[in-house]
Amino acid sequence: MAVERVAVVGGGLAGLAAGLALKAAGAHVELFERSRILGGRATSFEIDGVEVDNGQHVFLACCTEFINFAEAVGMSGALHLQDRFDATILSRSGKAGRLRTAALPAPLHLIGSFASYSHLGLSGKLLIARALAAALLGRCDASETFEAWLTRNGQGAQERAAFWDPFFIPALNAPFDRVGAPDAMFVLKTAFLRDAGAARFGFSKVPLAHLAAAAAKQLDAVHTSTAVLAVTPSAVEGRPNVTLSLSKGDEHFDAVVLAVPPRQAERMLGDPSRYGVANLDRYDPYPIIDVHLWHDGGSIGRDFVAALESPLQWIFEKEPGYLCCSFSAADEYLRQPTAELEALAWREVQTFLPALKDAKLVRSAVTRNPEATWLPQIGATRTQQRTNHPAIAIAGSWTETGWPDTMESAVRSGNLAAAALVSRSG
Ligand SMILES: Cc1cc2nc3c(=O)[nH]c(=O)nc-3n(C[C@H](O)[C@H](O)[C@H](O)COP(=O)(O)OP(=O)(O)OC[C@H]3O[C@@H](n4cnc5c(N)ncnc54)[C@H](O)[C@@H]3O)c2cc1C
Repeated sequence: MAVERVAVVGGGLAGLAAGLALKAAGAHVELFERSRILGGRATSFEIDGVEVDNGQHVFLACCTEFINFAEAVGMSGALHLQDRFDATILSRSGKAGRLRTAALPAPLHLIGSFASYSHLGLSGKLLIARALAAALLGRCDASETFEAWLTRNGQGAQERAAFWDPFFIPALNAPFDRVGAPDAMFVLKTAFLRDAGAARFGFSKVPLAHLAAAAAKQLDAVHTSTAVLAVTPSAVEGRPNVTLSLSKGDEHFDAVVLAVPPRQAERMLGDPSRYGVANLDRYDPYPIIDVHLWHDGGSIGRDFVAALESPLQWIFEKEPGYLCCSFSAADEYLRQPTAELEALAWREVQTFLPALKDAKLVRSAVTRNPEATWLPQIGATRTQQRTNHPAIAIAGSWTETGWPDTMESAVRSGNLAAAALVSRSG
């Protein structure tokens, strides 16, 4: 019997991707989202009349399922993707380094610009080259942390500050002693070592909620401001069935995709182990803070720059006069008052971008996301999308996709969850 009516709980990218895939398989799909806006962690909203992203989001060219998702909802024109990887990295003293790929096969594509990278001396470059070779050829086990891997591979303070921190703190969004070495190796190999085009940076040119809205249009019904309190499986005339408990009463569906963060999934299922859903309690959340700065200094002439040895790793120019500064793995700044964060970010911007030394800050805002990404504890196995109940599947960027908690992982998880339901429906 085919899955005819499916509920998707959670209107983030995972839920939306699952919804689209189920629609493509012929199901009637209804989406339930607690918030009044769609997009989950990849969303946007108005602050004083200006629509800002929940935080700057970047994807890489290797994020193929996210790019396909944007295309499927008619938004590929809203994405910008670099022609080749090209990043400017600034030091506090005003020195600029540049890493960009040449037209050579991976991993040779980075050698030219790495050789002239001004933030590292020859010995540092050799140490990093040796670590990259070890990443390609060596092994690490699940119990090793990325911190231990860096130490084992001789990476000192300089190599970390000039290379590992600016790229891997934002990519992994956690202190390196909380990240499994295999997860870091996955990012390193997928983005930098396997395919010369993979690390090209991309970002949305429109506020992120527009992407979610375009996806939602393809579903049969979208219930925003509607929290699902519990999901209970049952059977109707021998067919698997699920009941969604909402504050306004119950709704029944043939199947459900739970595309919410792990703690909410645990609460909704009551006893996840009954459905073979493992390890929902083995994830920890990590914060990201973004400080949005509007100034009268015009364009900085680049889409983004990295700031070395700064609490804000990257500065993005959203448009001339509007910068978004992102603080990844920002635990120590989470409780800092807004005015202090704004002043800190503006000070850092004026230090790293001396052209803005005389510019005036016109307005500013802070977006704080204490649960920006979910990371499995070291050695813990990530939750599978398929459960042992034929009418329940799990999605979410934190589930087992092989990718870190990113938009790419969210879309992949939604596709996998939809495939799990469809394959079980016979
Ligand atoms: C500031 C910030 C910066 C980021 N930067 C990047 C980046 O540069 N690149 C990148 O790839 N990723 C980035 N991420 C991560 C990325 O946003 C997430 O990986 C992705 O959006 C997660 O999608 P999801 O659908 O799995 O989860 P979510 O987006 O968390 O969606 C879950 C949804 O479930 C809803 N929900 C929860 N409980 C219920 C309930 N009881 N009933 C109904 N609905 C419920 C929530 O409201 C939410 O909308 C960033 C995240 C943040 C916060």
